[in-house]
Amino acid sequence: MEKQSQKKPVSILGIPFENTNQEQFESLLKQRIDHHKNTFVVTANPEIVMYARQNRPYEVLIKKADYIIADGIGIIIGAKLLKDPLQERIAGYDLFVSLLEWGSQNHKSAYFVGAKTEVINKLREIVTQKYTGLKIAGTHNGYFGDDRNIVGDIARTQPDMVFVATGFPKQEAFIDKNRQISDSLWMGIGGSFDVLTGTVKRAPKSWQKMHLEWLYRVVKEPSRISRLSVLPRYLMAVLKERLSGR
Ligand code: UDP
Repeated sequence: MEKQSQKKPVSILGIPFENTNQEQFESLLKQRIDHHKNTFVVTANPEIVMYARQNRPYEVLIKKADYIIADGIGIIIGAKLLKDPLQERIAGYDLFVSLLEWGSQNHKSAYFVGAKTEVINKLREIVTQKYTGLKIAGTHNGYFGDDRNIVGDIARTQPDMVFVATGFPKQEAFIDKNRQISDSLWMGIGGSFDVLTGTVKRAPKSWQKMHLEWLYRVVKEPSRISRLSVLPRYLMAVLKERLSGR
C-alpha cells in the first residue's frame, strides 16, 4: 500500500499539501484503516499555515503528519498563485461525515475527543442513532488539562478512528503526542462536532459552492472576525514566495 497519493505534494509557504481529491483520499484512508496503519491527518487552512510560520515547534509537528490536506479555499488560491494547483479543497467536516457513514456500514469503531460537554453528549446520541453500525469506543469533551484518562481509554479500546475536535494547535499536539498508543486514523477536525450536532450551522450549499463558507461563519459568529485578519497576510506571503521563485 502506498503512503502517499499519486501526485507529489504542493508546497505552500513550506507546508506540503497532498494533491488529491476527496474520493481518492477517502479510499486511501479506508485502506489504511482496514490495514491498521497508524495515520495522522492534518486538515489545514491559511490560519494554520500562518501559525506554523510563526511557531516553529508547531510547524515541525504538523510536518510529521502522514498527510496535510487543503481544508480551505485560501489554500487552493495559494496553490494557484504559486502556479502549482491543487485538485480540490477537501473539507475536514466532509471527510469526517463520510468516514462515519463508511464506519457504520463496515462496523468500525471510533473515539471522539473535543467540544463542550453538552456538545459531545449530543454527538454521542446522534452517532448512536444515525450511524448504527459504528461502535463508539468512547467520547470525551475537549476541555481537559491532563489527558491521561483519555489516552488510557484509547489505548485500551484501540479504535479504528480517533477524531479530535479541539481546534488547532491543541488537536495536532494531542495527536502527535499520543498517536503511538493505537494504530488508528487520527484526524484533527476543528469545530466539526459543533456542526454535526447543529450547535453551529454550516454554510448552505450555495455559499459552499461560491467558496464563501469562511464568510458565512463570520456572519454567524462575528467574534471570529479578527481571525480573518490572517488572510491578507497569508496572501502577501504567498505572493512574495511566488515573486522570489521560492
Ligand atoms: N475546543 C475544545 N477545547 C479547547 C478549545 C476549543 O474542545 O480547549 C473546541 C470548541 O468547543 C470547538 C472547537 O474546539 O468545538 C474549535 O472549533 P473551531 O471552529 O474554532 O476550530 P478551528 O477553526 O480552530 O480549527
